[in-house]
Amino acid sequence: MNERGDILVVGGGPVGTALALGLERRGCAVTLLEARPAGGGEDDARTLALSHGSRLLLERLGVWPLSPPATPILEINVTQRGGFGRVELTAAEAAVPALGYVVEYGALQRALGAALARSRVRVEVGCAVLEVGGDADQACVTVSQGGTRREMCGALVVVADGGGALELAAVERRDYAQSALVCEVASEAPHRHRAFERFTAEGPLALLPNARGWALVWTATPERAATLAALDESAFCAQLREAFGPTLGAFSLCGARSVFPLQLKVAARTTTPRCVLIGNAAQTLHPVAGQGFNLGLRDAHELARLIAVHGVADAGVQRLLDAFFAKRRVDRSATVFFTDTLIRLFSNDIPQLAALRGLGLTALASLPAARKFVARRMIFGARG
Ligand SMILES: Cc1cc2nc3c(=O)[nH]c(=O)nc-3n(C[C@H](O)[C@H](O)[C@H](O)COP(=O)(O)OP(=O)(O)OC[C@H]3O[C@@H](n4cnc5c(N)ncnc54)[C@H](O)[C@@H]3O)c2cc1C
Repeated sequence: MNERGDILVVGGGPVGTALALGLERRGCAVTLLEARPAGGGEDDARTLALSHGSRLLLERLGVWPLSPPATPILEINVTQRGGFGRVELTAAEAAVPALGYVVEYGALQRALGAALARSRVRVEVGCAVLEVGGDADQACVTVSQGGTRREMCGALVVVADGGGALELAAVERRDYAQSALVCEVASEAPHRHRAFERFTAEGPLALLPNARGWALVWTATPERAATLAALDESAFCAQLREAFGPTLGAFSLCGARSVFPLQLKVAARTTTPRCVLIGNAAQTLHPVAGQGFNLGLRDAHELARLIAVHGVADAGVQRLLDAFFAKRRVDRSATVFFTDTLIRLFSNDIPQLAALRGLGLTALASLPAARKFVARRMIFGARG
């Protein structure tokens, strides 16, 4: 069967769903193709720090407030293990109500799914896209659903598959030789809406305030992450206290531990004829400083905005795709550079670099304007 739709979005993760909603609000006919069954992403163990800018975009899509509610971050505390220097970024100094909001991936997916159910977006679940092709006139995908293969065509295909198997452009990769262990923990001291990012030689350790406890993102070598995941609760909490330090007192474990391997994957070009890559399909980043989804949401917002400006009839034309690529270039490359540099600079125990990092943190701590710049850059991205 050969079907004709307007815009096909591949991947119903948070970025693809946000795009589908944004396009529908602008009057586009959209079909969203998701490989997992209905509700499939809701058990994902990731917890995301959303920037204040992302909150504003989600509000426009009608998916804010979330349930359970997101936990605001009012202060971010950055330190390095075994070195001097400390920076505190505050919401008050950045002149925003919160520096960010901590949400569970599953809660975000549920809210996006509820908004989808209220919309006119056509959703196909259990529908895996196997191939994407296009020419000057239309884009087509081959899908497999319920054991049947078929082709669907439209004016534009947007790939938001999270950097899965559909590689449509040359990709630059770096294996960080790190994995992120994520879980919920509680501490003796309350979070008071503070987030902590502590750089260690093995990778950053982040504690994000989440409801009454913390979302832990602990980066380490893959071997150490696997060992930490297998420890019993008291040994794990003791290791966490050792790595984080005494600031929050003793920790206790509140849930299962999951491990994510980490790599950098950046598509050289995010457009091919009648096709656009957004979110993790365009760039998969290290989770340091919580940038990946925030960047992907800005991709989705900008694409929906440009399609509305150019007109739905022109959704897949080359000049729109070129405009999208150009418009996203600065934010994309600045965010990739920012996260990648943090990892290269901080994930080692070279003494000279530790001293340099300490000086950098101390300088930042003493310069309010620089702190405000860093905070607002993390909240709103780099302007193109
Ligand atoms: C440990 C960890 C912590 C993180 N913390 C943060 C954070 O604090 N803040 C932040 O902004 N980002 C964070 N990120 C990054 C964030 O998770 C991603 O940037 C975000 O999930 C990307 O969304 P996406 O929709 O592009 O991809 P995904 O979330 O991967 O969703 C892709 C969707 O596409 C579907 N799919 C895949 N292949 C196909 C196919 N062939 N056909 C149809 N459907 C398909 C999948 O089933 C899935 O539903 C973190 C990442 C990790 C690993």
